[in-house]
Amino acid sequence: MTNARPDRPRLRFAPSPTGYLHVGGARTALFNWLYARKFDGEFLLRIEDTDKARSTDESTRAIFEGMEWLGLNWDDGVVYQGANLARHQADARKLLETGAAYRCFCTPAELEERRRQAQSGKEAFKYDRRCDRLPREEVEGRVAAGEPYVIRFRVPEGTTEWNDLVHQRIAFPNKDIEDFVILRSDATPIYNLAVVSDDIAMGITVVMRGDDHISNTPKQILLYRALGAPLPTFAHLPMIHGLDGKKLSKRHGATAVGDYQHYGLLPGAMLNFLALLGWSPGGDREVMTMPEMIELFSVDGLQKKAAIFDPKKLEWMNGQHLSMIPIEELEPRVTPAIISARLATEEELVERRDWYLRLLDLLRIRSRTIDDIVRQAAPYFLDNIEYDPTAVAKNWKDPVESAELLRASREALANTTSWEPGPLEASLRGLAESRGVSAGKIFQPLRVALTGLSVSPGIFEMLVQMGRDLSLKRIDNALIALGV
Ligand code: GLU
Repeated sequence: MTNARPDRPRLRFAPSPTGYLHVGGARTALFNWLYARKFDGEFLLRIEDTDKARSTDESTRAIFEGMEWLGLNWDDGVVYQGANLARHQADARKLLETGAAYRCFCTPAELEERRRQAQSGKEAFKYDRRCDRLPREEVEGRVAAGEPYVIRFRVPEGTTEWNDLVHQRIAFPNKDIEDFVILRSDATPIYNLAVVSDDIAMGITVVMRGDDHISNTPKQILLYRALGAPLPTFAHLPMIHGLDGKKLSKRHGATAVGDYQHYGLLPGAMLNFLALLGWSPGGDREVMTMPEMIELFSVDGLQKKAAIFDPKKLEWMNGQHLSMIPIEELEPRVTPAIISARLATEEELVERRDWYLRLLDLLRIRSRTIDDIVRQAAPYFLDNIEYDPTAVAKNWKDPVESAELLRASREALANTTSWEPGPLEASLRGLAESRGVSAGKIFQPLRVALTGLSVSPGIFEMLVQMGRDLSLKRIDNALIALGV
């Protein structure tokens, strides 16, 4: 199964398909992917579908879709853990044969009763190994009689430790680890056995996952040793918390990667945002493209402390990427939204393509989302616009004065011989000067007249983009709306 090259690290993302692809899962996938791409390694995908009752094909599809959207491509075919049942069982048998594990006939009811007793005596319950002391003939007899049993791993004495890439040295005294079950009585493997068996078979050299798995790692290390396999390097990534410091959950808003995809977020922005959840490239660098993240990725930048998921920051990051990506990449993302908002038809956009691309270039600077671009684009396409009440309250406070300034602005603009930023600026600034008012006094009411909004690109570029006829018509309409 493995075609690992010893000089190349092999990593994997091993989600359980029991729900959508969560941002925490996507972050873990990304870090594994970055490590593999940075160090010329391989990144594999394993679907841990051993829990048949909770795993669904729909979740598996959501995982593929999310990873594809983010561009986290995996090497080789997908590994389905459930398909490796025979190997998991063979590994359990091997441990039984070498004496590293033993059969346990204690029933769940008996164990429950002992656990209850221990708790009432305020003792921590730990399996007392009674089945490890059964005489061999008795074990054979009970097996022959068809009595159900589980297979337990016999935890040796000593301490289990490893050098974590994130936490450095972590040590667990073995006395705190009970003889854990590796194979259930129905011969299905327990998570720790399935993971180790698969990671060995897949030739995984670096296991990077959430630090909620730290307590599994000593058990897994013991299994590697007992199976005679070399240990991988472990890296445990910090948990992700909401702004309130609590573990990220649906209470904090959307946590499914698919939701962000459907909101129209840029995958590059999502990746960049996820990359900062537990890693820092150093300095105050934050905005990065994928090639830059690969370039800058290093184990030293991995952090121990919980990462904070701040949706405002994600939106800000999206704005940064909206301004950064090639316009040819932005256009196909915005166009369907422009069409569905009925601002223009596809044909109209094709016909005015150069003008349209200039418009997107102008609007993206002040936008954080595709919706922001569409909202700002409306005045360039529609005959009639709506006036944002806040913009009106702020910038047309005194209707008589605003109308008067708009009339004067219209005249100055109409008399401008060349409809270019320079001459338009000279006309409007000249007007402000001749009136002895600040330029803002002229620009703000005009901005509302042209767009209905109080935020827009620079007024001169906007006038040029809108064109002479539409700009003048807008002012006429504003005068009507002001009604003075
Ligand atoms: N299926 C496990 C999970 O989703 C994988 C843990 C691991 O990476 O070993 O948490």
